[in-house]
Amino acid sequence: MFRCEKCKKIVPPKEKSFLLVVEKRPKIYHINIVKTIIKRRPGKGRKKKKIYIIKKATGWEIKKEIRVCKECWEKERRSNEVI
Ligand SMILES: [Zn+2]
Repeated sequence: MFRCEKCKKIVPPKEKSFLLVVEKRPKIYHINIVKTIIKRRPGKGRKKKKIYIIKKATGWEIKKEIRVCKECWEKERRSNEVI
């Protein structure tokens, strides 16, 4: 049994609880990629070259999440779909 943090209703023990993300912040991830390039040069054989690439990717980091009842969770999901 728990209390829904959104509507403050007591949820019966049989009901499942849902985690709802209420706050998130942008996060920049750094991805390191090592690429190996093989150059074929006639008469001189092959030459391997390693290239290091640092890629920046933006994502979201969860800052705060609350425990909500199924009703609130579905409501929130529906409102997110509209946007
Ligand atoms: Zn609720």
